[in-house]
Amino acid sequence: MSKKMCCIIAEIILAAILAFLLFRLAKVNAAEEKKYIAIIIDDFGNNSKGTDEMLALPISFTGAVMPGMPYSQQEQDRLIACGKEAILHQPMEAHTGKRSWLGPVPILSDMSTEEAKKVFLENLESFDNVKGFNNHMGSAITEDEEKMRAILTCAKEKGMFYVDSVTTPRSVTEKIANEISLPYIKRDVFLDSTQSIDKITENMNKAGEIALKKGYAVAIGHVGAEGGVVTAQAIKNTYKALENKGIEFVTVGRLIEEAELLHKDTP
Ligand SMILES: [Zn+2]
Repeated sequence: MSKKMCCIIAEIILAAILAFLLFRLAKVNAAEEKKYIAIIIDDFGNNSKGTDEMLALPISFTGAVMPGMPYSQQEQDRLIACGKEAILHQPMEAHTGKRSWLGPVPILSDMSTEEAKKVFLENLESFDNVKGFNNHMGSAITEDEEKMRAILTCAKEKGMFYVDSVTTPRSVTEKIANEISLPYIKRDVFLDSTQSIDKITENMNKAGEIALKKGYAVAIGHVGAEGGVVTAQAIKNTYKALENKGIEFVTVGRLIEEAELLHKDTP
């Protein structure tokens, strides 16, 4: 082989290596720039106002379904059929509020740890297509280390993830989830608990700002009187502009997977 030929081959190999490295770098940058919002819509299971409007939204989100309600299984199935994700919305006692707001199968403060675990397991098993759970109310129970340890350990054994709705600043769940390596994430923004479309729009934009800053945001909204039709409308009005800022709407399960991958990549 001539010397000139050797030079050409070496140049081609060098150019190929350079192109490969540039391609890898571009890919890494693109991955780093990914921003996510995971919306969880709470309180499915009761054919509440806004259910149809939420299911018709053209973005990915997660529906949290109350157990033991007239439409629990049906709405789990409808969520899946619409390409959304379903999780168990486990009712837990709060420091304030009516007992009736907890539905028929809540975890209560005066239950033994064994009883609390049994209720949780039965609720989990009443669904056949849930990937994880979050808490409905729960400011009292999520501060109870013994009960939460039993429930979260049970979730870990079942291959579930947990989203803390953060209804109290004294929740012990993050600490326990870290100790037992349970896939875990917590809420950043509540979208509604109002019928003001301006307020919900403002909260959607707040979720967007958090996502752009830290890479992701978990936002919780509701079907029913706490939001419903007006929340669905606010999401519909704002999602495109947020997507245009580079934000992808994902289910919370997908977000946890992505966060875990990022975590593994970090030395
Ligand atoms: Zn709820």
